[in-house]
Amino acid sequence: MRSSTAEPAPDHGDHAADPPFAPLRLGSWPTPLEPAPRLAEALGLRGDDLWIKRDDLTGLAGGGNKIRKLEWTMAGALVEHADTLVTTGAAQSNHARLTAAAGARLGLDVVLVLAGEAPAATSGNLLLDRLLGARPVWAGNADAESLDSRARETAAELRRAGASPAVIPFGGSSVLGARGYLEAGREILRQCPGVQHIVVALGSGGTMGGLVAAAGARRVLGVDAGARPGVRTVVRTYAAALSQDPLVAEDLRVRADQVGAGYAALTSETAEALSLAARCEGVVLDPVYTGRALAGLRAAVRDGDIRPGETTVLVHTGGLPGFFGHPEVPAVFG
Ligand SMILES: *Cc1c(COP(=O)(O)O)cnc(C)c1O
Repeated sequence: MRSSTAEPAPDHGDHAADPPFAPLRLGSWPTPLEPAPRLAEALGLRGDDLWIKRDDLTGLAGGGNKIRKLEWTMAGALVEHADTLVTTGAAQSNHARLTAAAGARLGLDVVLVLAGEAPAATSGNLLLDRLLGARPVWAGNADAESLDSRARETAAELRRAGASPAVIPFGGSSVLGARGYLEAGREILRQCPGVQHIVVALGSGGTMGGLVAAAGARRVLGVDAGARPGVRTVVRTYAAALSQDPLVAEDLRVRADQVGAGYAALTSETAEALSLAARCEGVVLDPVYTGRALAGLRAAVRDGDIRPGETTVLVHTGGLPGFFGHPEVPAVFG
């Protein structure tokens, strides 16, 4: 059955992808939806147009969007009787930090396969990874795919040593992990029934994929951070798997204009967005994801994709520790 509106499909519990287990509860729900009137006006919107979904306030070790995905992927790992979690990311990965925290809470060992070499100084997320007791494995120059194969090798070594490892995918994104954002999307629709635009940073795709499944492609604007190539296809796959509407992921809205010199580089638009959110609302965004999401929202207002009078939710997906771990941040804001 194809629903003709963008309302969430009724959940008959009969999708092929429905897992036979419930999610863990690792965070505090629902997260708040806060008005952002001064920021709205600074962007050229009306004061009551803009809301911030505070998914940075999800609890657990600095918070952020990865907790919603981990509630599902970790439940899957426990069903498989895992005693060790292996996952991947950049050195300043928020997902790696929250996997370390979730593992600590559940009494599981955590091994983090990270791109690059061990840095001379440990800061930001990496410092928290250490504090939380996770073991880093440095993978050198590696993209998402070679990190994933290195993670599988690491898991095989652990298995030979008698452990029972589960590999959590890059960014926590899979059809299973994206379920956390199907739920988050429904939460946003309950808190803000008239929402016309949900603006979110796009990394490994699970967050946007789940939101599209809940709210429809026309209402979700993804701002690509440049974390991995081909992410549009990934989003489409997750959204289609989680929706009963086969056309739910047609016409995805993705902006690629905020990547700049690449994932790890702080663009001037993102730096301006960080200052705006901080000075208008006292809200701190991060230099990789949420700063880009606001920069993309600002560009969307400038080019007329989002207009005054249209109710807009900016999803604050977290990332604060990354602010303290980004090499360019002190020179820009210090
Ligand atoms: C990972 C991350 C995102 C992107 O989420 P994906 O599901 O990987 O696309 C956005 N914001 C922050 C702060 C993140 O850590």
